[in-house]
Amino acid sequence: MSPLCFALFGLRPQEPLLTEAAPRPGSGGCSFRHTRLLVLKGPVAQCCPLAARLLPVMAGVSQREVRKAADRRQKRVLEEQRARIKLVSKILQKPQELRTKDDLAVLAACVDTVQELERRKQKTEARKRKLEEVIDEPEELRRKVNLLAAAIQEAQYPVIYSGAGISTAASIPDYRGPKGVWTLLQSGREVSTADLSEAEPTLTHMCITQLYKEKLVHHVVSQNCDGLHLRSSLPRKALSELHGNMYIEVCTYCSPNREYIRLFDVTERTSLHKHNTGRKCHKCNSELRDTIVHFGEKGTLEQPLNWKGAAEAAKKADVIICLGSSLKVLKKYACLWCMSRVPHKRPKLYIVNLQWTPKDDVATLKIHAKCDDVMRLLLKELHLEIPHYDRSKDPIFSLATQLRPGEEDSHSRKLLTKDSPEGVASTVSGGWYGKGCAKGRRKKKI
Ligand SMILES: [Zn+2]
Repeated sequence: MSPLCFALFGLRPQEPLLTEAAPRPGSGGCSFRHTRLLVLKGPVAQCCPLAARLLPVMAGVSQREVRKAADRRQKRVLEEQRARIKLVSKILQKPQELRTKDDLAVLAACVDTVQELERRKQKTEARKRKLEEVIDEPEELRRKVNLLAAAIQEAQYPVIYSGAGISTAASIPDYRGPKGVWTLLQSGREVSTADLSEAEPTLTHMCITQLYKEKLVHHVVSQNCDGLHLRSSLPRKALSELHGNMYIEVCTYCSPNREYIRLFDVTERTSLHKHNTGRKCHKCNSELRDTIVHFGEKGTLEQPLNWKGAAEAAKKADVIICLGSSLKVLKKYACLWCMSRVPHKRPKLYIVNLQWTPKDDVATLKIHAKCDDVMRLLLKELHLEIPHYDRSKDPIFSLATQLRPGEEDSHSRKLLTKDSPEGVASTVSGGWYGKGCAKGRRKKKI
């Protein structure tokens, strides 16, 4: 019997009701044998776990029956709760003038349920609002871009964080937009897109490269695996591809890691926790792996992730421009936001995104517009030319390692060629884009 029992009933261990005994294993620390506890009944059972187990035993009821009775009780409570929620929810859906006296009586009797349902409704509406795409009026957009241009010119070390939103113009849907991969997969719909190898750097990619050349941007931290920053001639030292690059496979057995840039998507056979690409290192003959970091994985590769470069850039940055990223994943990387500093010493945030982001509240400026529209206006404001992407000069062709004889059949993905592609749409299955997302998908609650 626990000290609480004694306190509650003013009993002492010497009480005639109880006899002392050695503690038994699993007795919950109770050191007394409850020989005549039936006299005390319920209250003792509530405050002493051993008494709760012993009372029914002494009344001749088996533990199994006790458990079954408890399960039945719990089930009944849940059923009643569900029925109450259903009833109240039905009444709340009725217009107020149509509610009967009985309805009002039910609502008055179930104040807690009404409050809970109201809370759930507000939560759903807030979630919907966050997914809505907002577009600034042209005049408002120009005003905001002017502010952004001034901030870039005045900044000592501007840095760009880019997300899937900058690649939507290249036929690669973003993750969390209304038609994004994530949203489609979560609602159980299929993902269909143009072949990734047909994608080319967008106007935004080209503008970023130009800003870098003009020293108006010093580093780019990207969540995208599509390799389009690299293909827009942005130097590798200025780039951190935090979630990998679909054109790069590496040998982690060679020291330093040996990198193979290919002219095709190397992720065809890879997925979550499964990274071997099926090809071997030309030097040590070990298995090559892709560089993709799936949802739920931790990226440890030095390149192309370049976490060192990203952390150094964030440390030096006084202005961070977030382009087309929901920031839901990026916000988790504390080192990118200088969270160890006091708020007013952190870099100023300029966010370009159509939807809500978790950093909106702390942003200096939020621009609701497509990245291409913002970058076009920005470069005009800065009196800079927007370079055109020339496929024949795409740096990937000079960086690429050719396959060895016999390796030609190690993939079935389309090869990048220097000729401009024809617009062919197809469904992509497998690789970082298909399998990875589907595996990370949460099951819908029933
Ligand atoms: Zn090797």
